[in-house]
Amino acid sequence: MKKLTLLFLALVLLIAPCNSVFAQSNKNTDDKLQSINWDERHTIEFHDNLLKDLAIKYPNIAKTYPIGHTWRERKINAIELTSNVKNEKNKTGIAVIGNIHGNEQESAESASYTAWWLATNYNTDKKVKNILDNYTVYIVPVMNPDGYAQSFIYPIRENLRPTDRNGNNIVFSDPYSDTDGDGIIADIYVGAKDSAIKDRKKIGMESADWDKNGVFGDDPKQSTIDLNRTFDYLWNYLDVDRKPALGGNAYTRAGANPAIEPEVKAVQNFLLTKKVHALATLHTGIQCVLTPWCNTPEKPKDAKFMEKVAADMTKALEDTTGRKFYSKQSYDDYPTSAEMIDWTYGRLGIHSYTIEVYRGGKSNPKGTIEEQCAWNNELPADIWEYKGEWNGVKDVWFRKTSRAQMVGIAPPEQTKMVEGAKNAILKMIESEPYGPGSEAPEYLFWGNGW
Ligand SMILES: [Zn+2]
Repeated sequence: MKKLTLLFLALVLLIAPCNSVFAQSNKNTDDKLQSINWDERHTIEFHDNLLKDLAIKYPNIAKTYPIGHTWRERKINAIELTSNVKNEKNKTGIAVIGNIHGNEQESAESASYTAWWLATNYNTDKKVKNILDNYTVYIVPVMNPDGYAQSFIYPIRENLRPTDRNGNNIVFSDPYSDTDGDGIIADIYVGAKDSAIKDRKKIGMESADWDKNGVFGDDPKQSTIDLNRTFDYLWNYLDVDRKPALGGNAYTRAGANPAIEPEVKAVQNFLLTKKVHALATLHTGIQCVLTPWCNTPEKPKDAKFMEKVAADMTKALEDTTGRKFYSKQSYDDYPTSAEMIDWTYGRLGIHSYTIEVYRGGKSNPKGTIEEQCAWNNELPADIWEYKGEWNGVKDVWFRKTSRAQMVGIAPPEQTKMVEGAKNAILKMIESEPYGPGSEAPEYLFWGNGW
């Protein structure tokens, strides 16, 4: 008996410190989760750690896992939120994908916030409990983590597929670099000190001219590819010689083949294995909810349903943010093909929406609907700085553009923006009570060993 008591005591002593370390780390996770400032811009590490921390703190409702990796071997992380109250088969699948475009950072904040909000409110908010008891919500806050991380140096849209833009057989041989240490990558111009802006000529981007070819920043760290033109649905369908030609130079931005970019492959493969009823992909650039199709003015089969849901989502965005939003068919914004929502709706029958959460700058109440809808914030004006002789070139001007100055800076009232996006996503979830969900067509699996 005495021996046993001693053994017991020894065990308690052994376990106690471990326990308290665990309790401590749980408390740290708690503090971290409670003290997030959603008015700030967050790094890629923040988003990755947030998903991990939510899975540690809420193991019964949150699972975090990578769905693929990027060219730079970054993980593309997803969080799966659902309770085990009901069998997964009987649940309604919802997908939220943020930041396909690296520089559209508010889209990542909105997706991460939605994940955080669902996980942290499950135990206290009946509505959230009801959602996670009946739905499985898959959220990928940053689909393009390479582009996202690179956007803290310069706001790029693309991924980081190794690319040789200047034809010297070395990829990324002249990346942009902050030569004067002011944290901003400038556009480089030449012109006399007393020249008018219109008379200055652009000669490149701020870089150390790493490849020593006399051209500054002519092989930056970014591919030429727009991931949202590379899904495996009507890839490169709209030719340049057809009317209308693709919007946004997408013809040259669709890459070499459909769905060969690792980020797009990861999302496609992931969605093929899940029964998803509705999907939102998050962007910035306008304030709008867009519905399929992107490639044709024709209306899809479920147009009425999706247009109604998009209108409800728009209202939620307006009510929450106090800003104006609108909704329309994506084609009427501008025509594209091989976008995510055409693939998810066209291939899998998922009700799909593009939520554009933010357009920077002043809104123009007398302008077009696009011009009326903006965040209504003050953006910094371009700064022109005369450098004189720089890197062996005379009369150099640095033009620090408004967008380059905004790198890493969150717009004011971002908390309202992410809350608005979350509320729009809740509207989308509510619209899918017992839908049949997506069904990947059999031909997609032939010969794939699935
Ligand atoms: Zn975008």
